[in-house]
Amino acid sequence: MRIVFIGPPGAGKGTQAERLIAVYGLAHLSTGDMLRAARDAKTEIGLQAESYMAAGQLVPDDVIVAIVAERLKAADCAAGFLLDGFPRTIAQAEALDRMLHERGTPLDVVLELRVPEEELFRRLAGRGRADDSPEVIRQRLVAYRQQTEPLLDYYEKKGLLKVIDGLGPVDEIFARIKAVLDPWTG
Ligand code: ADP
Repeated sequence: MRIVFIGPPGAGKGTQAERLIAVYGLAHLSTGDMLRAARDAKTEIGLQAESYMAAGQLVPDDVIVAIVAERLKAADCAAGFLLDGFPRTIAQAEALDRMLHERGTPLDVVLELRVPEEELFRRLAGRGRADDSPEVIRQRLVAYRQQTEPLLDYYEKKGLLKVIDGLGPVDEIFARIKAVLDPWTG
């Protein structure tokens, strides 16, 4: 299965992603994790990305697209993958379409984990990551609304989008995701 997982910061995507990859044996491609690792290792890409991440802004498309293109070549992606945090812009989505078309491995489904904005603020305020200060949180939500939300329409038009209600206990939300994936997993 090849899945794109979309949701605003604080939606609980990370928690659900961990379960998804464990249950379905998917490679987990989290661009946030990849960028944090690059930043901590002080690689060239990490140094380029650092200031954007600290400000809650998106890293430039060409940087992130190159990272994902490279990662998709790894052997563990052949059996299926969960893209988590990518694509985040229409340009990234178009680049992904091109990559997957070249490989002959189109997406199966795009999951949107939907959570109302008031609830996101409440959750993020209690989390305490370095880029979780109120101003940076606000900026990440703005980036989501302006740059990532248009993807929902993009994938809806392709008939790929499935919306998951992200409110409620973690187990219940995972059950909703599993139910949506039933047609692929039997
Ligand atoms: P969040 O908790 O906001 O969902 P992530 O852990 O996915 O954040 O990513 C953290 C930061 O890494 C983002 O705020 C952004 O600066 C950068 N980033 C991650 N993925 C992408 C992407 N696909 N395009 C551009 N920037 C990205």
